Amino acid sequence: MEYMTQPTRVLVTGAGGFIGHHLVTYLKDRGYWVRGVDIKMPEYEDSKADEFLQLDLRRWENCLKSTEGIDEVYSLAAEMGGIGFIETHKAHIVHDSVLISTHMLEASRQNDVKRYLFTSSACIYPGYKQQETEVTPLREEDAYPADPEDGYGWEKLFTERTCRHYMEDYGLETRVVRFHNIFGPLGTYDGGREKSPAAICRKVALVPDGGTIEVWGDGLQTRSYCYIDDCVEGIYRLMRSDFREPLNLGQDRMISINELVDMVSSVAGKTVKREHNLNAPQGVRGRNSDNTRLRQVLGWEPEVTLEDGLARTYEWIRSQMASHPEKYELDGGAAPAVEEGAAQPSLQVA
Ligand code: NAD
Repeated sequence: MEYMTQPTRVLVTGAGGFIGHHLVTYLKDRGYWVRGVDIKMPEYEDSKADEFLQLDLRRWENCLKSTEGIDEVYSLAAEMGGIGFIETHKAHIVHDSVLISTHMLEASRQNDVKRYLFTSSACIYPGYKQQETEVTPLREEDAYPADPEDGYGWEKLFTERTCRHYMEDYGLETRVVRFHNIFGPLGTYDGGREKSPAAICRKVALVPDGGTIEVWGDGLQTRSYCYIDDCVEGIYRLMRSDFREPLNLGQDRMISINELVDMVSSVAGKTVKREHNLNAPQGVRGRNSDNTRLRQVLGWEPEVTLEDGLARTYEWIRSQMASHPEKYELDGGAAPAVEEGAAQPSLQVA
């Protein structure tokens, strides 16, 4: 017998932000009814959400309102930024994000939400496991004994535990994903909250061929980077899975910041020199994701290469900057050799 099915009603918090905005688009494309909530609207394009509520989720009554009539919650709202931001705003981050996360979990329970996904971070991993550039990739069980990134990482670890308690005590089906450096178009690239790939794209776009950019630290610190399309695919697969423990989501190709600068320069078709600022914040010395469990649990792993992802990201950031000539002088003010916004093929021999 045929019967009418209602689409599942999902809530994405942080839907005005980078990953949340992409996730709303992804879920709409799969036929979900989506409510987006954020304290701000998306910056670069309109949301595809069926309903977008501009609300402050530090407030309990707004968390209750957001979760009304909702089946599944993707909880992304948080105070967030690159290392320059999280090392200098610890009280602000912990205060706001603890309120948001704790109220959202309790409101979801009271409104009978069926599934709840929390976006945690590689910043929960202990500092003592990340002291060398050639680090051993981090496995999920490496989280304890705990010594996370001060402020931001402690809040993420605390909320991971709170998710576990809500599952054990109240039966709320929680999922926890630990992102490793997500990047891509429609992400912040200026203003102090941007992360390293976006900051490097912006700096490279501004200098002429042969120019110099500032690099934080000695550039030997290592990371892995995951493209946004893979991130939303992974989030969705985890939400649909039966896996109830925290799971890494990232690429396991580790590179140094110096190599990242060279890759972006190559995408831009420029030779760029690096000036190292040893007083700037650098975060841990080395970090990489161990994807063994990700492959086992999801039967999948991120697919977009770093080169591809950076090319798409550089092109988008450059075109954004080109549309604000009052603010940015691209290529050191040189007359553009090609159409503004187009990523150029690599021309230089490094
Ligand atoms: P983002 O800053 O672009 O998005 C976070 C959103 O939360 C913002 O739009 C912000 O306005 C919103 N928010 C903050 N305070 C709020 C409040 N009081 N009420 C309502 N909304 C509020 O960051 P993102 O990169 O999209 O990150 C999304 C999630 O993933 C965050 O929880 C972040 O900690 C986590 N994460 C991201 C990365 C990454 O590499 N981008 C890595 C690890 C974890």
